[in-house]
Amino acid sequence: MFDIRCLIIEPRTGVDDLKGFWKEATKISRALWYVDEQTCVFCGDEHGPICPTCTDNYLYPDLGRCLGCGKLILVERSHCIDCEAGRGPKYLDQVTAWGHYSGGLREFIQSIKFKAHPRRLMEIARPFSDWAISQLPVVDGVVAVPMHATRLAERGFNQAEVIASALQWELGLEIIPGVERIEPTSSQVPLSRQERLYNLKGAFAVRQPEYLKGRNVWLVDDVTTTGATLEAVAKVLRGSGVQGIYGLCLAAGLDKERDHRRG
Ligand SMILES: [Zn+2]
Ligand SMILES: [Zn+2]
Repeated sequence: MFDIRCLIIEPRTGVDDLKGFWKEATKISRALWYVDEQTCVFCGDEHGPICPTCTDNYLYPDLGRCLGCGKLILVERSHCIDCEAGRGPKYLDQVTAWGHYSGGLREFIQSIKFKAHPRRLMEIARPFSDWAISQLPVVDGVVAVPMHATRLAERGFNQAEVIASALQWELGLEIIPGVERIEPTSSQVPLSRQERLYNLKGAFAVRQPEYLKGRNVWLVDDVTTTGATLEAVAKVLRGSGVQGIYGLCLAAGLDKERDHRRG
């Protein structure tokens, strides 16, 4: 972890002190590049920001991503079983997810949301951004899935906006405003995809279409399961003339077939 005390250099004179100076200078240099030296954000291993074990266990870089909903699938397939059966999200050109919503990644996302640790998202900004640009086309900017004002007041931050800020920081992408959540919705967790879509009906609205018309965007959220939230936002974006819409999330589920083969 970065320790601010290592930036303090005591005044010195003489040759021995010159050695001391270089020692301190090295410390400063390391401090400035501390992101490269950080420990694993998921397990604390010294090989951060994500150690090889956690990369294998939660990010599955060797698996494909369903182009329709972002679920992790076998590489030889382009779509998951749900999307092939027409049960995937509509209005999006592609969706991708950085990792699987389980274990360390799930705990990381939950600690951000429920223990109010939004700054921790900056620890994964670089590997997540690297993943995003390797999977999705270049766009004009990012749109965060908006949060209703009541929920925002309770939590104090919208994690999707913090993810958008991380992408802006790493990739210089513009954060495009204009879409709002105008209806508070109850928890989506116990609901089916159809129930979620019904629940989200009329939840989002574009207030300033001039920011969005004719543009290509990454639509970002923390987690996608059925894709219902991405679809509901993408629908109003399309209605405002947004051209390309690419869903981007930290985590998604596994394709059913993959689950089956894993036993
Ligand atoms: Zn790890
Ligand atoms: Zn899919």
